[in-house]
Amino acid sequence: MTRYFDYAATTPTDPRVVEEMLPYYTEHFGNPNSLYTIGRDAYKALENARERIAEPLGAKPEEIIFTSGGTESDNAALVSTLWRLAPEGGAHIITSAYEHHAILEVVEWLGKHGHEISIVKPRKDGHVAADDIEAAMRPNTKVVSVIMANNEIGSINDIATIAQIAHEGGALMHTDAVQALGKIEIDVEALGIDMLSMSAHKIYGPRGIGALYLRRGTRFDPLIKGGGQESRRRSGTQNVVGAVGFAKALEIIVAEMDSEAARLSALRDFLIDEVTSRLENTLATVESDPRLPNIVPLLVKGVEGEAMLLQLDNLGFSVSTGSACSSGSLEASHVLLSIGVPQEIAHGSLRLSMGRWTTKEDCVELVDALIPIVERLREMSPVYKRMFCGEG
Ligand SMILES: *Cc1c(COP(=O)(O)O)cnc(C)c1O
Repeated sequence: MTRYFDYAATTPTDPRVVEEMLPYYTEHFGNPNSLYTIGRDAYKALENARERIAEPLGAKPEEIIFTSGGTESDNAALVSTLWRLAPEGGAHIITSAYEHHAILEVVEWLGKHGHEISIVKPRKDGHVAADDIEAAMRPNTKVVSVIMANNEIGSINDIATIAQIAHEGGALMHTDAVQALGKIEIDVEALGIDMLSMSAHKIYGPRGIGALYLRRGTRFDPLIKGGGQESRRRSGTQNVVGAVGFAKALEIIVAEMDSEAARLSALRDFLIDEVTSRLENTLATVESDPRLPNIVPLLVKGVEGEAMLLQLDNLGFSVSTGSACSSGSLEASHVLLSIGVPQEIAHGSLRLSMGRWTTKEDCVELVDALIPIVERLREMSPVYKRMFCGEG
């Protein structure tokens, strides 16, 4: 598990989670909707998992809907509520420019299907300003959706204030909490959240299971229709084994939250210090609190993120870069552009994300590997020479 620096993309399933899941593949395999004993046992495990997920959020078990993951939760939150609130169109939706694509693509689709949309830019410090949300509110605003903690730069938003503004304007508040879950305290009552998206595989649980917190009484037309499972809010035979794993994963990450936050934020600061002091023309993308302890967003000027990623991979390090290679052309990350990072610098983005098995030694080895890679790439780069060495 060493040398993995992409915990924000996915996490290995914790062996304690796997152990709790195994009997539900074989022994307790029943359909939780069947009335005989093994069905009822599966039902009990499912409802127990629902309670264990609701509890740390300050939610009621019936407010937790199991889904296939963060993407489905995000889709359902927006589409299912808007369908009930404004089936003919004409509603207004506010979101931020640095949401996950699971929100941005849905908002853009809703915009093409009769709704008005406002996409608010976060500030340069990486946070969505509550004042900017307030300025975007309209009389017909029905849903405000702002990410709790950004997956690329780690910034944590003031959801409580934004939710208050949404409610004062008569809108529902949704937040994508996939990266925030288990990393920071979340209390849906204290924050005033109506809908919250979660995913198990980002917190050392299995892939393909997530949940949507949906405040009691929120009108909701199910995205997935059929047998009426999940109190008619999400059809399909429930993923009991996934739900059990998700509950166990959440229990562990919440219990270890404070100690991990202290440990990982020290490693984050170490990585930022090492890279920026040993390599010229590098900086942390944002360093403004509050931010997640485990995400290290870096900008290395005059180098392509992808080139660093591939060379680090050759040495056994898994990292991520903001830029994604699509159809041969390098596209800069929408997250970095949204906070005002210039296009040419955004190309040199490196996102290191740490987790349960990241050690200080891994970080030392990563920096020692990265420095010669960057120096070599810069030597070969006419762009770098032009930008920083006064040539050509
Ligand atoms: C990973 C992620 C998602 C998508 O979750 P899946 O369970 O992979 O569908 C959504 N939002 C954020 C912020 C994420 O990091």
